[in-house]
Amino acid sequence: MSAPVLSPTNDAITRAADLLRSGGLVAVPTETVYGLAANAANAEAIARLYAAKGRPRFNPLIAHVASLEMAQAQGAFSRQALELVEAFWPGPLTLVVDVSEHGTVSDLARAGLPSLALRMPDHPVAQSLLSEFGGPLVAPSANPSGKISPTHAEHVATDMGDRVDLILDGGTCTAGLESTIIDARGDRPALLRPGSLDPAEIERVWPGLIRPEANPDAPQSPGQMLRHYAPNAKLRLHAATPDEGEAFLGFGPGEATLNLSTSADLAEAAANLFRMLRELDQRYDRIAVAPIPSHGLGEAINDRLTRAAKTA
Ligand code: AMP
Ligand code: MG
Repeated sequence: MSAPVLSPTNDAITRAADLLRSGGLVAVPTETVYGLAANAANAEAIARLYAAKGRPRFNPLIAHVASLEMAQAQGAFSRQALELVEAFWPGPLTLVVDVSEHGTVSDLARAGLPSLALRMPDHPVAQSLLSEFGGPLVAPSANPSGKISPTHAEHVATDMGDRVDLILDGGTCTAGLESTIIDARGDRPALLRPGSLDPAEIERVWPGLIRPEANPDAPQSPGQMLRHYAPNAKLRLHAATPDEGEAFLGFGPGEATLNLSTSADLAEAAANLFRMLRELDQRYDRIAVAPIPSHGLGEAINDRLTRAAKTA
């Protein structure tokens, strides 16, 4: 069944916020493109979101906020980062900062990274929804992975109507291009993704912008950019049973130190993945991981596990 497409009346915003509270997915217009919103603090909702988009990887997601206060509850802003906020929020500028100790954004939304991407959208519908919901929402573009980003509610209805719970129709998105992403953790700002805010504008407020190398695998800003979740422990993948001294991260029925999903549910496993890896990493030097099927969300789970295994 296709999700209802509603004008953003007060009633529709209330209904959307309720759906988000119960783990649902809501398509919402922003000034860049239509986003697929989910409660950033709810790992199960985030797993559903990745499944709905059919993303083959758990890319970290941008958490959208209604206020600077909401942003500062989640991440640590340097003086220069605050100057960028002052100059460009609300607007198409995403700032990557260190996650704060009491932050609520789920590990899965951050793909296990100790950093967090935050943005305050400049769109009345996105702002109303965020205020009504009262917490950060992730909202990657509301299109299936590999398709182009939607700038009209009808695009979302056509491509994703059967995978979302509600579509808020706010007309055409004006920017059409994604937000500019700046790593604001160091002494100098680093451009992680060009987008609809011109980097020259950033330079005016905080000079010394570091631009990405032609080689996407080169470190983008020395010592700063963690490319993916990297445990200290050594991971051994596709393990049927643990060896002596290894922790066992299970999947499906059977004994395990921790189990991603005893019922072999991939969405549950995705929701638990980073939290459980982190827990085992704190207690063990070696972790054996049970085989995970590679269909559906399993592809993204295996992608992250493979990368995490290579770094040890
Ligand atoms: P979008 O596709 O517009 O939702 O943007 C998601 C992109 O934001 C990711 O692919 C990353 O490039 C970037 N991003 C999100 N969170 C982080 C983070 N914690 N650290 C670095 N980059 C991030
Ligand atoms: Mg996109």
